[in-house]
Amino acid sequence: MSGTARILDGKAIGARLRAGLAQRIAGLSFRPGLRVVRVGEDPASIVYVRSKDRAAKEAGYDSETILLPDDVSEPDLLATVRRLNDDPAVDGILVQLPLPKHIDPQKVLEAVDPAKDVDGFHPVNAGRLAAGLPGLVPCTPKGVMHLLAEAGIALPGARAVVLGRSAIVGRPMAALLLAADATVTMLHSRSRDLAAECRRADVLVAAVGRADMVKGDWIAPGAVVVDVGINRRPDGKLTGDVDFAAASAHAGWITPVPGGVGPMTIACLLENTLEAALARRGRESLQPNGGVAEVHATPDQSYGHGPGLA
Ligand code: NAP
Repeated sequence: MSGTARILDGKAIGARLRAGLAQRIAGLSFRPGLRVVRVGEDPASIVYVRSKDRAAKEAGYDSETILLPDDVSEPDLLATVRRLNDDPAVDGILVQLPLPKHIDPQKVLEAVDPAKDVDGFHPVNAGRLAAGLPGLVPCTPKGVMHLLAEAGIALPGARAVVLGRSAIVGRPMAALLLAADATVTMLHSRSRDLAAECRRADVLVAAVGRADMVKGDWIAPGAVVVDVGINRRPDGKLTGDVDFAAASAHAGWITPVPGGVGPMTIACLLENTLEAALARRGRESLQPNGGVAEVHATPDQSYGHGPGLA
């Protein structure tokens, strides 16, 4: 098994997902509306928001970015969110994080109408996911589920280990894997013997934010390794949470950074916006596992795609 890891190509899979969404949108009588709110001039946010807007427009969405100054007051930002909640042309609202220090991000996320919460961060959607109920699911973990489905990974009974427990990645990731019948272990900064815990994983998802923390000998032979981390090395290059070269010698499948999970996040934002648009119009119900319905095949079996990949 060593040295033979296959690449889970998020760039290609994300592009296919976006093309499928564009096709579905071309067949609709309306254009799903996405509004991304950016506050201030955080350089990373500028890049992310531009990519989201470009991808949405390319796929046929009615997408607009709302730019607010760094010193916008919290009441004014909340008023903007409420205006978007009330606007019937808007199906999806995303407030790009981080926000300036004088604004409470939780207050802002909780102001978004849960039916338009395409980031899936509202406590109503987080709670629904935790309870195994349908709702809008955070884009990054949803993208990981698509990658696993594309690779034909059999999740029922598989030992899945999630490294990291943030509200936006680790926790929803664990909930989605559990919904797909994996046996899930969550690891965090207080966990003991990370290496041994990771070594037991059939599927390992790393979402820590520490460059190359997961070493090659943390990976069981043939395991599926999904690297959510995006870290900048001193030389300016991007790297994940997993030592890619060393892990590739052990893993069965592995995601690269960049070009793995990142492109899936944007594709899933578009998918959530379409799902929100259809659900608001009573056309289609949301899936309990975020629309990634087909994760029950045996390895290498090809998938009949769920609604998300149609
Ligand atoms: P976060 O909020 O900082 O959470 C990091 C998690 O890792 C926490 O649960 C923390 O544990 C745990 N952790 C930190 N150091 C650890 C250690 N030494 N040992 C074990 N656990 C440790 O980060 P996040 O927002 O989840 O993001 C994680 C990474 O994913 C970042 O690199 C981020 O840039 C990236 N990301 C990528 C995408 C994408 O689209 N590809 C999207 C979102 C995030 P505690 O809870 O105990 O503190």
